[in-house]
Amino acid sequence: MKQESKTPKKPLIYYYLIAMLVLLLLNALVFPSLLSPKVGEVSYDQFLSLVERKEVNKVAIENDVILFTVKDDAAKDGYAYYQTGRIEDADLVNRLKESGAEFSAVIPTQDSPLLSFLMTWVFPIILFVAIGQLMGRMLTKHMGSNAMSFGKSNAKIYVESQTGKSFADVAGQDEAKDALREIVDFLHNPDKYAAIGASLPKGVLLVGPPGTGKTLLAQAVAGEAKVPFFSISGSEFVEMFVGMGAAKVRDLFKQAQEKAPCIVFIDEIDTIGKKRDSGSGIGGNDEREQTLNQLLAEMDGFDGAKGVVILAATNRPDSLDKALLRPGRFDRRVPVELPDLQGRIAILKVHAKDVKMEDDIDFDTIGRATSGASGAELANIINEAALRAVRMGRSKVAQQDLEESVEVVIAGYQRKGAMINDREKRIIAYHEIGHALVAARLKDAAPVHKITIIPRTSGALGYTMQVEEEERVLMSKEDLLNQIITLTGGRSAEEVVFNSITSGASNDIEKATSTARAMITRFGMSDTFDMMELETVNNPYLGNDTSLVCSAETAAQVDSEVRDIIRAAHQKALTILRDNRDVMDKLAAFLLEKETITGEEFMEILKQCDAERQPVSLVKENQ
Ligand code: ADP
Ligand code: MG
Ligand code: ZN
Repeated sequence: MKQESKTPKKPLIYYYLIAMLVLLLLNALVFPSLLSPKVGEVSYDQFLSLVERKEVNKVAIENDVILFTVKDDAAKDGYAYYQTGRIEDADLVNRLKESGAEFSAVIPTQDSPLLSFLMTWVFPIILFVAIGQLMGRMLTKHMGSNAMSFGKSNAKIYVESQTGKSFADVAGQDEAKDALREIVDFLHNPDKYAAIGASLPKGVLLVGPPGTGKTLLAQAVAGEAKVPFFSISGSEFVEMFVGMGAAKVRDLFKQAQEKAPCIVFIDEIDTIGKKRDSGSGIGGNDEREQTLNQLLAEMDGFDGAKGVVILAATNRPDSLDKALLRPGRFDRRVPVELPDLQGRIAILKVHAKDVKMEDDIDFDTIGRATSGASGAELANIINEAALRAVRMGRSKVAQQDLEESVEVVIAGYQRKGAMINDREKRIIAYHEIGHALVAARLKDAAPVHKITIIPRTSGALGYTMQVEEEERVLMSKEDLLNQIITLTGGRSAEEVVFNSITSGASNDIEKATSTARAMITRFGMSDTFDMMELETVNNPYLGNDTSLVCSAETAAQVDSEVRDIIRAAHQKALTILRDNRDVMDKLAAFLLEKETITGEEFMEILKQCDAERQPVSLVKENQ
């Protein structure tokens, strides 16, 4: 967010430079002339002749200079003091005595010690303090407030068009947009709603996984609403000093009520809105609690009909304090979900507008290959593709850039120059072909899109990408079993070909286990437990955040069921690969040579092998 400043921000460095300059000038020009009256330079023999002529009045002998004053009538050129270099001169004292000059080893230049003390110590300090204050005032003016004016909310006020975002920038998310449009409309025409007796919710909570565009939606509302828009992030309440959070909330709401009708947006509200009892223990998190209490009090305190609507966003609705969700507070929830195929394509297109693209880009393919990706990830894919096009020296983004950047976002960059010896490379190739071949031989498994054994910076040594033909919302038991069998295919290939196993299957094992566990504990797909719930999902938006809700004995039984599913799947994969050893060898050799093969090449080889096989089996049957 960088749209809030009303006055152009001059870099701080200017202030420092100006202050330095002023000090330097003072030092160079003002101080010396004030402190030390003008001193004339004379040669030693001139000095001696002045002494001889008895025109010297007072003399001060220092380590290496002699300072002196002359009698009034001799001072023609206006200097108050004269100085000359000191030469070893044993006779000097006698000569001075003879001339009747007053002499000493004291410096006579500073006649007033008080003035000199003021000039050298007091004045510079006053000057520094004054400049410091001036700069402080400039800083607060430019940074809104903060360390210097305690307790002021530093919410940024957006005015229409300042965010530069509108609903057109948010692809998909139609339900969320509709809900928010209603709010904007209410703020524009409150009478329409008042006439029928409808009152709008005080608070609207946007909930959804990270990167789905919650913050973006709020910015779009700011762009669309022709009312003031205050925006603050939850974490900003909790920063700084104890007690500040509550004060900030108070100030924010005071400002909002003055500016009503307006919208207040609290991003990442979970940072202040966490359940108050959640194991804070002794000492607890008093600061956050105070802030939350203040927020609740303020939400109750203002009159919704006045036209202040509070918008908040979170990806942890489960962790929010129940009090926040009570009617009269955030009683309307707007889900912001991960995009489906159409949504993904739309998001890709929105972001592709900012980038020069070839005309023949097939967004459909990219959309299919990115099932489960969030809007933020899709935006990143477009950007990575543009970067790749630049690296390749092209002026437009091509399909190939997009395909590669999907892999970068999913699996990391290609690791150039990774040292993998030939035996390991063979193992990796067979492992990946194992996955792909098992998938191809299973009925209804997702088709293979790409296989590669180019290592990635994420640590993946190779991978097999499957892409569903159409978007799925339901998975049958068979689909899930197929997934598990495919996951065990990699390790199975290693066993069949090399008769040994490696550490390379850890990721497969993790995924197979969590799928098998979910089948039993959450999807009711085991005979033993039927439709019994054994695990609850704590947060649907943050991965596998689940907890068991069964006895220890049941948990042990679940473990053994999971083991049975995986064992059966593993056996199935082994059988498939043993039956297809010839095809596997051919595919692995091809992959070793090419390092990457596409789904079409894969199917081509598979068909060829099948065609060669068939006559043999026919002959056998005829005998
Ligand atoms: P959240 O706040 O939900 O975590 P953001 O609003 O910060 O997500 O989204 C991050 C970025 O992802 C946005 O700046 C935008 O570029 C992109 N993005 C996410 N969802 C969409 C969408 N529906 N349409 C267009 N861009 C999106
Ligand atoms: Mg956000
Ligand atoms: Zn694998």
